[in-house]
Amino acid sequence: MIELKNIDVEFGQGKKTFKAVKDVSLTINDGEVFGIVGPSGAGKSTLVRVINMLQPPTRGQVLIDGQDITKLGRRELRKVRLNIGMIFQHFNLISGSTIAENVAFSLYANQYPKDKIPARVKELLEMVHLPEKAEAYPASLSGGQKQRVAIARALANNPGILLCDEATSALDLENTEEIVALLKEINQKTGITIVFITHEMEVAKKLFDRIAFMEQGELKEITDIYTAFTEPKEPIAKRLVERVLNVTVPKALEVKEDEELLRLSYTGEDSYDPVISMASKNYDITIDIISGKVDYIHNKPFGVMIVIVRGAEHERRKALEYIRNNVYKMERLGGR
Ligand code: ADP
Ligand code: MG
Repeated sequence: MIELKNIDVEFGQGKKTFKAVKDVSLTINDGEVFGIVGPSGAGKSTLVRVINMLQPPTRGQVLIDGQDITKLGRRELRKVRLNIGMIFQHFNLISGSTIAENVAFSLYANQYPKDKIPARVKELLEMVHLPEKAEAYPASLSGGQKQRVAIARALANNPGILLCDEATSALDLENTEEIVALLKEINQKTGITIVFITHEMEVAKKLFDRIAFMEQGELKEITDIYTAFTEPKEPIAKRLVERVLNVTVPKALEVKEDEELLRLSYTGEDSYDPVISMASKNYDITIDIISGKVDYIHNKPFGVMIVIVRGAEHERRKALEYIRNNVYKMERLGGR
């Protein structure tokens, strides 16, 4: 278990200090894929570097399995760090060494029994589905393959925690999906705890179990991934989630008299269609669909739809009542 308690990180800027992380407390459970999202400069990288003390906090405690690692000496810290692998946006492979040598390097560096290294390297390359590339050089690999080598290297000493800082941000869509699928698979097979920073909400949606939203050094919201997409609360969460769903109201849209603009959310197995058609059948109104999208998180559907309801006030009121009772959430965006 990783526990961050009241973490502040300050950087000196001349005579002033700049707070990159402000009083962040959170707990990450064993075996979960925990994500941190937020705009550039939010403090995500700084916070994640606190977890392995690459960045000592100015204030606060970092507990790994109950042990406060902010108080440790060099040697003890080294031991703790062996349990924490890390990958980055850039893969940092040694270009003059083969893939096998790149992976073996972190075993040599940590006194892994020499005679067991070749077998361990083979095992690691199989884990990332690259056994055939053992003798290849990094330059001949795709970005996704390079990142898989970096994952094999990070997992060499069998850590319980893997920190990933924008690990898919330099990759195209296809390679990103490959890495997301691989990390999910490794998480499920080994039970490793994954802490994953990204600014890509598509990645968050597919990979995370829980998500933390950061902005300007502060932790704004923390929730399971399904709730984050269906019921975002803080402005930053709403903004990031809406971008994925891409169901904004067109600016040019005018809501006229006898019209009402609604945002409908649904979850679970139902679809809107019956609600929309029943509402227009049972009441003297018409409904136009402005935009809508259905998406899935861990195979559970959710969707958002923007509609305009037209009709005389008393009919509209009844129709709205009906819709409200038959969708997950109805928000009135405007009307008269
Ligand atoms: P993110 O990863 O969310 O983009 P960072 O954690 O990299 O954000 O940075 C948060 C803020 O802290 C930024 O304003 C950045 O410029 C500042 N910062 C990060 N590292 C340092 C440093 N070593 N010295 C001074 N300022 C830093
Ligand atoms: Mg960063």
